[in-house]
Amino acid sequence: MAVKQTAGRDALGEFASKFAELNDDVLFGQVWSREDKLSLRDRSIVTVVALMAQGLTDSSFQYHLQSAKNNGVTKAEIAEILTHAAFYAGWPKAWAAFRMAKEVWAEDDVADAKAKHANKIIFPIGAPNDTFAKYFIEQSYLAPVSTAQVGIYNVTFEPGCRNNWHIHHAQSGGGQILICVAGRGFYQEYGKPAQELHPGDVVNIPAGVKHWHGAAPDSWFSHLAVEVPGTETANEWLEAVNDAEYAKATTEEV
Ligand code: MN
Repeated sequence: MAVKQTAGRDALGEFASKFAELNDDVLFGQVWSREDKLSLRDRSIVTVVALMAQGLTDSSFQYHLQSAKNNGVTKAEIAEILTHAAFYAGWPKAWAAFRMAKEVWAEDDVADAKAKHANKIIFPIGAPNDTFAKYFIEQSYLAPVSTAQVGIYNVTFEPGCRNNWHIHHAQSGGGQILICVAGRGFYQEYGKPAQELHPGDVVNIPAGVKHWHGAAPDSWFSHLAVEVPGTETANEWLEAVNDAEYAKATTEEV
């Protein structure tokens, strides 16, 4: 897909129409757009390093840092890229680049962490889980994966987030299956040690068992929640997993 760029025409369309055309249609429209040959993210890294090497830490540099961020370069990665380039391009140039990079990546650590987590999963993170927020500590997100036949939801927990103790009731059948898709989390049945969860782990929760699930204190976590069909199914939400309980559950070696 062609990268749409109008900066050339916006800034120089009247003054230098050929330059504007080469900038917008050739550099961006043809070269940057060859995503099948090299990703936008990689092109951003090449461009940022090339500009830094010349000491060109001006507004165009800021634009390319912002693009790099938009193209998926994380805060940790840009720090590593500029540190690496500093040895080849020059120390003072890295200092100048860092001043600008720090601003570009400053505003949203949480959004960055969320985006990074989102990149690890094929299911969407979805919207803030407002409907069930009163049964959760901290922020969770919910994305329906299937609402027909068997209900399947991708549930994402920010670090430290967990749901209250709860029971999936059913007359027959029922219960819940958790399929872990990304990050690190925990599952605990009442009266038992918590279980640490990693991508690929599956937890079978029979109906009637009091339990909670959520993220590790220092990691985002997503699991698919499968609602096992049954008769007279109902969820009973109980007390919150308080900080002391959560700390004990997530630090105990099992
Ligand atoms: Mn559950």
